[in-house]
Amino acid sequence: MKSYKIALIKGDGIGPEIIDEAVKVLDAVASYSGFSLQYEDLLMGGCAYDITGDPLPQETISGALNSDAVLFGAIGGEKWDNLPREKRPESGLLRFRKELGVYANLRPAVVYDELVNASSLKPEIVRGVDLMVVRELIGGIYFGEPKGRDETKGWNTMVYTRDEIVRIAHQAFKIAMTRGKRVCSIDKANVLDVSQLWRETVEEVATEYPEVELSHMYVDNAAMQLIRDPKQFDVMLTGNIFGDILSDEASMLSGSIGLLPSASVGAKIGVYEPIHGSAPDIAGQGIANPIATISSASMMLKYALKEEKAADKIDNAIKKALSEGYRTGDLAQFDAKEVCSTSEMGSIIANYIEK
Ligand code: NAD
Repeated sequence: MKSYKIALIKGDGIGPEIIDEAVKVLDAVASYSGFSLQYEDLLMGGCAYDITGDPLPQETISGALNSDAVLFGAIGGEKWDNLPREKRPESGLLRFRKELGVYANLRPAVVYDELVNASSLKPEIVRGVDLMVVRELIGGIYFGEPKGRDETKGWNTMVYTRDEIVRIAHQAFKIAMTRGKRVCSIDKANVLDVSQLWRETVEEVATEYPEVELSHMYVDNAAMQLIRDPKQFDVMLTGNIFGDILSDEASMLSGSIGLLPSASVGAKIGVYEPIHGSAPDIAGQGIANPIATISSASMMLKYALKEEKAADKIDNAIKKALSEGYRTGDLAQFDAKEVCSTSEMGSIIANYIEK
């Protein structure tokens, strides 16, 4: 039987609660799918600082690099907010992404039929939305040199090398091949030289994927189109800062932050995590929505372990739980037949996994 090694980083706040539910669902799907999962718990964030004095201990990096994939909860909380910058949980997370070389952030935005009323947009605009933002994560203006400031001036540099564009473009085209076979590349090529290189390079990479239809859009128009008619998009390929903004905008289409998964992938090990944080305001109460994390586990099966059928089983079980009217507190006002706890929702989804 195939066996995979999964590094679990539960982290702080609601992290342990939501990861436990994802593991419950993963174990259910593995038992019907002919593979087994071995888990290793690794420390990171405030809890790691409390025990080791470091938010990202070296054993966590080596443990992650020794695994097939990392399933990540969330880190951070007020207790650690006043530590020196390098000791804060968030610094550990940035360092972790850098160490793993995860240059592509994949953020799907899916609107479940049962929750069309939970979106801030009209139901007819969001019904059926199923798009994926592929954002470059470790280049662009957040990292470009020169950067700095003095008393009267501040400056940053948006820089991309051809190689950086090539590798992120390949990610987007490969993902499009598993979906609707359309890539819309977002840039500002009418103004920025770096965007002209981006556009040219994406077009070159596109020639290797003749089945995928490529289009281009300026970022200001894309921000508008995402609200006007989000269904026109399949895969949106974009650089770091544009992707930062557009992926948050896209996440609002689906209604609750507790639903949205993400994957950060690169040359080595990928990190699969909900887009939300550690939600200290509801931690320990058993009311957090575990669906974003369970859905991240599905992405992990699909992209890291290539267990597509098992991933589909999880996605179907989530849909079934929602269509049967089960809701956690964050979605209680949207056609709930029964409001359930974090652990009840995990068990319901695990029970709905098809054999
Ligand atoms: P947050 O995402 O933790 O919470 C924002 C709001 O959404 C809160 O009201 C919270 O209760 C709610 N919420 C979040 N996840 C939910 C879920 N699964 N179910 C139901 N409700 C949910 O953002 P924040 O409050 O700005 O940050 C809290 C802490 O998390 C901070 O320390 C921040 O630095 C950290 N953070 C960590 C990550 C990460 O680990 N990747 C990401 C963002 C924020």
